[in-house]
Amino acid sequence: MFVAVEKKTNEPLPFSVETEGIDYIDLSEYSLPDKSIPYLLGEKISRKFEMLALEKNGNELLLAMKDPKNIFAIDSAALITSLDIKPVLVDAEKLMQKMDEVFYTQKQEQTVISQAVLEIDEKEKEQEKEREKKAESPTVYKEMLGNILISQNAIDEEQLEKALEIQKKSDLPLGAILLREGYINKQQLLSALEEQTGISYFDLNGVEIPDDVIKLIDKKLAYTYTLIPVKIENEFLYVAMSDPVNIYAIDDVRLATGYEVKPMLADGDLIIEKLEAIYKQEIEEEPENEQIEEIDFENEFEKVKEEIEIEVKKEEQVEKTINISDVENAPIVRLVNMIFKSAIDKRASDIHIEAYEDCVMIRFRIDGQLVEVMKQDKKIQQILVARIKIISGLNIAEKRIPQDGRIALKINNKNYDFRVSTLPTMFGEKVVIRVLDKDGFNKTKNELGFFEDDLVKFDSILSHPHGIVLVTGPTGSGKSTTLYTALRELCKPNVNIMTVEDPVEATIRGVNQVQVNVKAGLTFASALRAFLRQDPDIIMVGEIRDRETAEIAIRAAITGHLVLSTLHTNDSVSSIDRLIDMGVEPFLIASSLVGVLAQRLVRRLCPKCKQEYIAKEHEMKILKLSEETKIYKPAGCPECNGSGYKGRIAAYEILTISSEMRELISQNAPIETIRQLALQNGMRTLSDSCTRLILEGITSLEEMMSVVSINE
Ligand SMILES: [Zn+2]
Repeated sequence: MFVAVEKKTNEPLPFSVETEGIDYIDLSEYSLPDKSIPYLLGEKISRKFEMLALEKNGNELLLAMKDPKNIFAIDSAALITSLDIKPVLVDAEKLMQKMDEVFYTQKQEQTVISQAVLEIDEKEKEQEKEREKKAESPTVYKEMLGNILISQNAIDEEQLEKALEIQKKSDLPLGAILLREGYINKQQLLSALEEQTGISYFDLNGVEIPDDVIKLIDKKLAYTYTLIPVKIENEFLYVAMSDPVNIYAIDDVRLATGYEVKPMLADGDLIIEKLEAIYKQEIEEEPENEQIEEIDFENEFEKVKEEIEIEVKKEEQVEKTINISDVENAPIVRLVNMIFKSAIDKRASDIHIEAYEDCVMIRFRIDGQLVEVMKQDKKIQQILVARIKIISGLNIAEKRIPQDGRIALKINNKNYDFRVSTLPTMFGEKVVIRVLDKDGFNKTKNELGFFEDDLVKFDSILSHPHGIVLVTGPTGSGKSTTLYTALRELCKPNVNIMTVEDPVEATIRGVNQVQVNVKAGLTFASALRAFLRQDPDIIMVGEIRDRETAEIAIRAAITGHLVLSTLHTNDSVSSIDRLIDMGVEPFLIASSLVGVLAQRLVRRLCPKCKQEYIAKEHEMKILKLSEETKIYKPAGCPECNGSGYKGRIAAYEILTISSEMRELISQNAPIETIRQLALQNGMRTLSDSCTRLILEGITSLEEMMSVVSINE
């Protein structure tokens, strides 16, 4: 039962016929039992709909509302919280006051809530920023740090005020400011954090951590969240953490180690100190072996192949077991290095290592096309795959189930990330390695290949303060590159951008990126729900695949956020149909959608060898030409590995939603009608865009045919 719902008989209630049967609460006499509850909806949503989450009781949420009959508001609250909503009537003015009170005091300390980092030196600031990006977390605290320190008589109200004042300007965590100003000492801060989190302080001083425990967690994870594993006891992994209630951190550790985690509160400085000591030692012990040296590919290859033959024979004698240390020193290392280097040199996006009955084939995907690069003796398959599994941190003994891993390599003095996935097939494990060229996503808007007029449209779509923007196209059509470029443009110090992606393909400084983790229950939809409580301005959802995600994304767009996402549809207008198919109400789409960008990648003709010719009659028809026109076709030269193409460029179709179109969408008008209107409004289709690229000699007609259907 809700204790708070009590009608006061001696007070005239603002009931009207409209609100009869709904309880009334006098907010001026009400105090929240749990201050984190309003954050179930977050400030933006609460203010937008003039409602405030008060209490949670089981699966029911008590919701103070100015207008308890506002179905749309109730619906939004239900969607965001997944709770049953029990609305109560409140006085509008008192509601505003309560909101100011609730969100004002908490806003001051939000940085502390999400970090609880103890002290930041100048030196650490850089590291801190890096961590922030990932570690911005759905941390739940019962009480505010400032209040606890006051109740412990560590500081007084005046000091808190001063610190909050400084925090407004400096962006530092409250704890760090209080320390710096000399209001509290570290002991006091830790004891307050102890009370705040309900987790006891653990003193890392002089603690010996066994090697095998340290190795459970990789360096990056440890630094990202400022944590260190300490011991294993009764099947639990005890982890010293600067923010021991960071759910993401705990989840990540659990997933990485397979252990249930017992978090312990520790001094962040001491954790970093310990980590530095451990990893410094390691760096000294381990010479750089990740750097791939320059290799004369052609000459080396024959030699390596022979050595491998010998190696394989040796392997066969020892009952096909693979010893890691043997492999480390084997020529296979050089072969694998060569494969990576060659893939980078040839601008491949993927490396496929395929097991066939009698051979192992290596193919690269270059400009979207698979190209065979070498065929190897079946015998080397096992050690080749084993080597790749070792460097990507996979279990080499496990060959029956698919595995995923990552490799970071320095090639030609540039850092590359590779995502590795293995799959058992009929004749052995198939390995696909995706090259994550971080710089590949690092394009400027002008490099995306927009025509001048398209760029103007794209800019105007992105300049909407709220609404949903969709990028559509099949896998590998460059949607991510477009989204990353847009986000980088939108990223400003005063804008909170949050993304949920699967996978996070590149990191963007200043953007909070979250990796989907289905096993841990972190889906597109659940991350979106959490985002809405974190006061974002711009949200990027990697992909809308289901109704739930679609609805929350659209709801977020309606409530004042700019939402970017992708959909799998063939053209821009079809995305409206796709959303309706998913079960989204047409009026919601009409009121939220601001623009759709459909795109495809076509290969660029190699400028060295492209051949000019006069378009044939049927080609003129496709290109809608009425007079003789010169266009180009591919030929092939050493420069382009004989393919006739080099690099790719995007073709776009940009749909901007006019008010007339909104009307049609909300009436659930046939998609053809909407398309006609879009064309009338001057939308250029994908084939128009391709035609333009052909006429400018950038691509060929065959490329156009491969990405768009021509009977339109
Ligand atoms: Zn060429």
